[in-house]
Amino acid sequence: MTTESFTCTTTDGHAGPFAIPTDLLIGEVWVPATSGKRIDILNPATETVLTSVADASSAEGRAAVDAAAAASAAWAATAPRKRADILLACFHAMMAEQEWLAQLIALENGKALSDARGEVAYAAEFFRWYAEEAVRINGELAVSPSGANRIMVQYQPIGIALLITPWNFPAAMATRKIAPALAAGCTCILKPAEETPLTALAVAEIMRRAGVPAGVVNVVNASDPGPLCNDILHDPRVRKLSFTGSTEVGRILLRQAADQVISSSMELGGNAPFLVLDDANIDEAIEGAMIAKMRNAGEACTAANRFYVQRGIHDAFVAKLVERMGAMKIGPGIEGATQCGAMINRRAIEKIEHLVADAVRRGAQVKLGGKAPAGVGFFYPPSVIANVQPGSEILTTEVFGPVAAVIPFDDPGEAVALANATEYGLAAYVYTDDLKRGLQMAERIEAGMVAINRGLVSDAAAPFGGVKQSGLGREGGHHGLLEYCEAKYIAVSW
Ligand code: NAD
Repeated sequence: MTTESFTCTTTDGHAGPFAIPTDLLIGEVWVPATSGKRIDILNPATETVLTSVADASSAEGRAAVDAAAAASAAWAATAPRKRADILLACFHAMMAEQEWLAQLIALENGKALSDARGEVAYAAEFFRWYAEEAVRINGELAVSPSGANRIMVQYQPIGIALLITPWNFPAAMATRKIAPALAAGCTCILKPAEETPLTALAVAEIMRRAGVPAGVVNVVNASDPGPLCNDILHDPRVRKLSFTGSTEVGRILLRQAADQVISSSMELGGNAPFLVLDDANIDEAIEGAMIAKMRNAGEACTAANRFYVQRGIHDAFVAKLVERMGAMKIGPGIEGATQCGAMINRRAIEKIEHLVADAVRRGAQVKLGGKAPAGVGFFYPPSVIANVQPGSEILTTEVFGPVAAVIPFDDPGEAVALANATEYGLAAYVYTDDLKRGLQMAERIEAGMVAINRGLVSDAAAPFGGVKQSGLGREGGHHGLLEYCEAKYIAVSW
């Protein structure tokens, strides 16, 4: 059977190590959808179709679980050192094709190449980190309080995992799940976002070629993921769900996972506050703000959504932010000079326009941008809106775009209260030269991750995740490995 494929050729003519298979990876083979249906993949910068991928239905979902189940016992029994070697091979294979993968991401996601290169390095790092973790899954041995028994705890692979990823980091969100799953000894089914499946398919093929055995990683894409994922979650062989995406879809999946009491990790939406105190170094704060706001053109769950700036430096901060964001080059991500690429689709532009219009109607002032350009491509310019009033939707809704909403505050206690006035609790940022005060504020901010004098929290070695409606569980670091392990207690009479 011939496999459909897409040849991604870089701007300097490199066609990559292979044509990317665009069918479904089930077991050892790439197969088309039985329905014959395909999903068109758009380039958001040009609104043209790049290629199409096979559109799976529930039958292929079942086949993917069959393949994961068939590979499960052997993979769990594979020596940790061998699993580690394979993961390390995946790291090297990905990094060898960093530029090619970055250009692929820029094409299907729209982000700037510089962001895409950073994403590939971050994504590959999960393979290296979990290669190192795979050989350090240590158990525990304790003397029972009575002294008469021994309590032995062993960490075992939790079982087959369904991994569902979003479009904003199509490589990193996949490897952040696959790498710990494989390190722990689990097999998996990856369901990438329908907007950006090509990157996941390329990563899967890289993994296959790097030695990941058949059935350990299976990939299905679907234009209607609801029924497919629901059926997979009702297959008793599936024991883990790891989802990254919106809180709304996370809630639906949690309900479905409840039927079989499936262990669930949820990396959901965010609404990150960025607090700048009077004593902060303003240039460092602007540097951090540019990363926290403009990495991925604001299409990040950790993106700063609300800038609370102490009154003494508020006007200077706004002026500098306008200057820096105003100097950014907007355009197709694939063009090397671009700093702010295209948004993912027309809906994203409409959402941003709605939030900005609502804030302006309530009294905010547009200091920069604030209007999508006419013409082809899903572009929105870097924008700053100041004096955003309480009650504005942009303060409670993820804008997921290059818009900075700035609000003044008077004292740090008030800033913490404002930061916490959201149902979300993923990332938060604090800029102050008083580290003790920064740490005390970090303790009181309701977020899974707080950065002090930094504009970036993501690190393969750190536990990434949220509180409140931003999610459950952690990805990255040792915590991320434990999400794919079951603690087996063996009671030993002494
Ligand atoms: P989304 O929830 O619409 O989609 C995410 C994934 O879920 C996609 O693969 C999609 O196909 C799938 N999906 C949608 N409906 C489904 C259903 N009924 N059943 C099963 N799967 C379904 O989110 P999105 O628009 O792709 O991504 C943006 C959201 O993701 C934002 O809210 C962002 O904050 C969040 N996000 C969170 C993190 C994090 O680590 N916390 C990271 C990146 C993105």
